[in-house]
Amino acid sequence: METCCWDVIILGAGPAGLALAARLASRKVLLLERQWAPAAGMRIGESLPGAARVLLQRLGLLEEFLGGDHLERGASIAIWDSNAPVWRDSLRDPSGPGWVIDRRQFEQMLLNAATQRGAQIQYGCRDFQVSRGADDRWTLALDGDSTRHVAPVIVDASGRSASLARRLGLNHIRQDAQVCLHSFLMVPASDEDTTTRLVADEDGWWYSVRLANGRRVLAYHLDAKHPERIALQQPEALLNWARRYPLLADVLAQVQPAEIHCRPAGTALLDIVNLDKAGPGFLAIGDAAITFDPISSQGLFHSLASAESAATAINAGCWHNPHAAQSFKQELLAVASHYLAKLRLTYQGPERFAEAPFWADRTMPLCRLPEA
Ligand SMILES: Cc1cc2nc3c(=O)[nH]c(=O)nc-3n(C[C@H](O)[C@H](O)[C@H](O)COP(=O)(O)OP(=O)(O)OC[C@H]3O[C@@H](n4cnc5c(N)ncnc54)[C@H](O)[C@@H]3O)c2cc1C
Repeated sequence: METCCWDVIILGAGPAGLALAARLASRKVLLLERQWAPAAGMRIGESLPGAARVLLQRLGLLEEFLGGDHLERGASIAIWDSNAPVWRDSLRDPSGPGWVIDRRQFEQMLLNAATQRGAQIQYGCRDFQVSRGADDRWTLALDGDSTRHVAPVIVDASGRSASLARRLGLNHIRQDAQVCLHSFLMVPASDEDTTTRLVADEDGWWYSVRLANGRRVLAYHLDAKHPERIALQQPEALLNWARRYPLLADVLAQVQPAEIHCRPAGTALLDIVNLDKAGPGFLAIGDAAITFDPISSQGLFHSLASAESAATAINAGCWHNPHAAQSFKQELLAVASHYLAKLRLTYQGPERFAEAPFWADRTMPLCRLPEA
């Protein structure tokens, strides 16, 4: 069996894994990706807060990003705390409005940066074995591949599956069985509305925003066990259900139904408290560490930010420097606890639905950090 030595092995070439690889330009980095090729289809997750500007700048990609097809985020109009629409713009936000990104272009930019800075990417990686040798290095062997990959640092960037962390015995706990039904609707050229429209109803919450590519996303977040979930996966049914709300009907009047996709969309947390129990030199970033509820619009920001923190930990020798590993862990813990507190407040907002199961489940203190 051939052995290949690396400085860092990253499992997962989504935004987090790619951003980390792009940051580790001076190191020998291997990215292992389960898909057979870079993602080509449309993917939900388009809202990037203005605070990401500084992360993109430090990644050396701000100029390229600003030259892309991303739209400046408009105001939001929300029917949330009460039945009256509340308009919010970013005038007082020092970070600026943020963007509605072209997700495919954004990931392609990260992919180009990672490969141009020397990272190797291997696609089509299915199952793997991972172990830690007496020489304090990790060995990763892919099924159907005769090469063993060896490195002092391995990073889980496999998204909410947290495949590597779970393989190493860490829990990745789904805190919430929310799913998102969504559709990318073709819009007429006359649709120049830039607002993000949010509506809370008894069984969940909706949003719709126009994308850069002539489409509009319509998304409904509800409990996975909702009795109407399967029926709502019919394109006409979802659109008609949304049109009951004037705030949404206003921007959905001229669109045709389109294919419905369903994705898990609730909070999930890695057992961050016990991160070090996986072994020195193991890190988790992006959704593999903290999977954010889409209501927070923080997932991509966290992917970039945790990639930056992981790069700092790696550059400080986290596999033999407990202080560097500890700082990384403390940062994740602080982010998770701040996020959980804020999330609960958000779901407490629509008091008129406090008794409805969707809202009652999400305002109970079930969202907590795993204990040591
Ligand atoms: C409905 C919905 C709406 C969202 N909206 C927003 C939004 O508006 N704004 C925002 O910031 N965020 C949003 N998000 C969240 C955002 O999409 C994620 O936070 C982001 O994609 C996380 O990036 P990641 O790289 O950690 O994980 P992912 O994007 O999931 O990438 C993980 C990669 O790892 C690969 N992989 C998985 N398992 C393995 C394995 N065993 N071996 C090798 N590779 C593997 C996957 O194929 C994938 O390429 C939304 C999420 C959902 C579900």
